[in-house]
Amino acid sequence: MTPEQRSRNMAAIKGKDTKPEIIVRKYLFSKGLRYRVNNRKLPGSPDIVLREYKTVVFIDGCFWHGHKDCKYFRLPKSNVDFWRQKITMNTARDYANNVDLKLAGWRVIRIWECEIKTKAKREETLSRLFAMITGIPSDIISLPDESNEPVAAEPFIPYGIVTPHHSKR
Ligand SMILES: [Zn+2]
Repeated sequence: MTPEQRSRNMAAIKGKDTKPEIIVRKYLFSKGLRYRVNNRKLPGSPDIVLREYKTVVFIDGCFWHGHKDCKYFRLPKSNVDFWRQKITMNTARDYANNVDLKLAGWRVIRIWECEIKTKAKREETLSRLFAMITGIPSDIISLPDESNEPVAAEPFIPYGIVTPHHSKR
């Protein structure tokens, strides 16, 4: 295998450029943040690396990363032990990567895929993510329903009439 083929295979296995990641990237980009993607030099190859903020972001698939009590995480009916072990190992590796990254001075933010799957949750999650990265609270903005569309520019909302986040729950 050539290095190109290998990296293409790895990308396919890792789920590089999966939709949820693109949604998050487009949003952050539209908010003026610049980043690198899939940095293999850092533990766990973070999906998004924001050097300026010394922050890395992972968008974790609920199945592969074992999202507890999540409807998207159900062990297959056959080979249960195999899958359980596999996902336990993934979870352990995520934890080890978190530790390594933190020791290297990075802030680690992990988002579950299910947190950006539905439109309502997505807006809240992305706003929260932006605030976590920058320390600047971000108003909830409306994103287009079709996530392939470029993220719309943030509408002008006069300060003070924004619906508080908690009222959306
Ligand atoms: Zn989930």
